[in-house]
Amino acid sequence: MTNKHDIGLKWYECPHCDYESKRISTLKTHLNSMHNKNAIKYQCPECIFNTKDKQSLKNHLSSKHKINLEMSEIPKFVLQDM
Ligand SMILES: [Zn+2]
Ligand SMILES: [Zn+2]
Repeated sequence: MTNKHDIGLKWYECPHCDYESKRISTLKTHLNSMHNKNAIKYQCPECIFNTKDKQSLKNHLSSKHKINLEMSEIPKFVLQDM
């Protein structure tokens, strides 16, 4: 029996694709962002830009709109239908 990863190390496999992670928390993040219809997205309040990554929106706001927000102030949207 061959193990394609480190011996003795448990990898968590995504049931929907080939994604694998050593950490269950990382897999959960992957599932939420890639396979969850209710995936949280961050929508720019100034334009149509949106992203799954809060930091990306923060960078976008500061570089495109010269708006500097705290991470806790970043607007969060849950898309019900994709
Ligand atoms: Zn997956
Ligand atoms: Zn924008």
